[in-house]
Amino acid sequence: MLKGKVSLDVTNLDNFEYDMSKCIKCKGCYWVDHIYMSGVNFSTRCPSATRYLFDSYGAYGKMRIGMAMLEGRMEYSDELLKTLYACTLCGACDVGCKRNLDLEIELSLEALRIKAVKDGKGPMPEHKKVAQKIITKHNRFGSPHQNRNKWLTKDIKVAERADVLYFVGCSAAYTNPEIARATAKILNAAGTPFMLMPDEWCCGNMLYSVGMIDEARELAKRNVEAVRKTGAKTLLLSCAEGYHMWKVDYPKMLNISTDDLGFKVVHLTELVDELIKKEALKLTRPVDMRLTYHDSCSLSRLSEPWTPWKGERGKWGMVSPGLERRRGSGGVYQQPRDIIKAIPGVELVEMIRMKENAFCCGAGRGTQEAFPDFAAWAAEQRLFEARTVGAEAIVATCPWCKDNFAKVAKENGENIKVYDISELILASIEG
Ligand code: SF4
Ligand code: SF4
Repeated sequence: MLKGKVSLDVTNLDNFEYDMSKCIKCKGCYWVDHIYMSGVNFSTRCPSATRYLFDSYGAYGKMRIGMAMLEGRMEYSDELLKTLYACTLCGACDVGCKRNLDLEIELSLEALRIKAVKDGKGPMPEHKKVAQKIITKHNRFGSPHQNRNKWLTKDIKVAERADVLYFVGCSAAYTNPEIARATAKILNAAGTPFMLMPDEWCCGNMLYSVGMIDEARELAKRNVEAVRKTGAKTLLLSCAEGYHMWKVDYPKMLNISTDDLGFKVVHLTELVDELIKKEALKLTRPVDMRLTYHDSCSLSRLSEPWTPWKGERGKWGMVSPGLERRRGSGGVYQQPRDIIKAIPGVELVEMIRMKENAFCCGAGRGTQEAFPDFAAWAAEQRLFEARTVGAEAIVATCPWCKDNFAKVAKENGENIKVYDISELILASIEG
């Protein structure tokens, strides 16, 4: 809609016609902010366009594709689907564009995938297989549902009722139990009682990411209702993707504000930072290591709260009522850094692309399933950046990032360690 009634509803690509049509191909979404450019290396922010070296893969290409689809000038093809899905929906383009033109790029990309599914063309075959597992087994691996709490060990105390509910997520429950255990032990050490969902199901992150909004919305309704019934005041996540799903995509799909969920969505790093600052948790054991911190997209630039908006667009693209843009600067950036700095013996070295400019690890939003070579390439780029600043280890706040880095580091024989921040915190508590 160039003028007239408009909203942020991603199920209708028309809502983003203005944003797609006003792309001037300046490539602010491709390059990192110029003042942070250190040279030729590490100067781009878009993994997709950097990898495929063709304009269609950048946000500017996809905005033109979107316009051509709206105007009926473009048919679906395998190559078109690849440009839509070989993209990590990492939000780097959205932040970059909003430095210049304040266009809604991330939402346009999401709306394009939702349209592809509605038109019976998306998602990719690999996504459909994972979706089937989520729908039938309630986890993205297709593992037996009854094994979901197998990560729990006898030394972990779980309360029957508590204000804090730890939503473990598929990865920590099935493939990364070290993260679930570390999170639970940190809570136990801090004297923060927590409960688990009576029957936890997948958050549906991949369903929403690939455009399967009907299936994702059903899960959102089921999961939000289940948490409300427990009476929890705080929903705690150790997974950045899950955090973003609960905090942003659930409210977006349910057409409510993040504040209207009825409980607060908190990432482990936010809680631990608060506990350290209140002196309820002390990190005393040294971890002698020079490490770098990777800003997971879903905890950082993508994680600002959601507020539904609808109104009118008038002359010069002005909208009324005023729209508070999500520009990425309100993400969780400082808390993980403050936690790392609180660990004795740790030396934190920053990568060149950090915070809003961070380069995605390549794993999320359906990329790893459908384009594993692209996901591995992106992780390689990031590991190279970590090594360049002299880090012995890279720390993430999401099992997706950890696994992608660890897999690539192992395959390439890289001399760099990979940790989730929960493991690091626990090491400083327990030794
Ligand atoms: S920054 Fe925005 S306007 Fe510029 S090329 Fe990218 S999407 Fe287009
Ligand atoms: S979401 Fe990330 S990978 Fe996709 S176009 Fe934007 S910057 Fe590139």
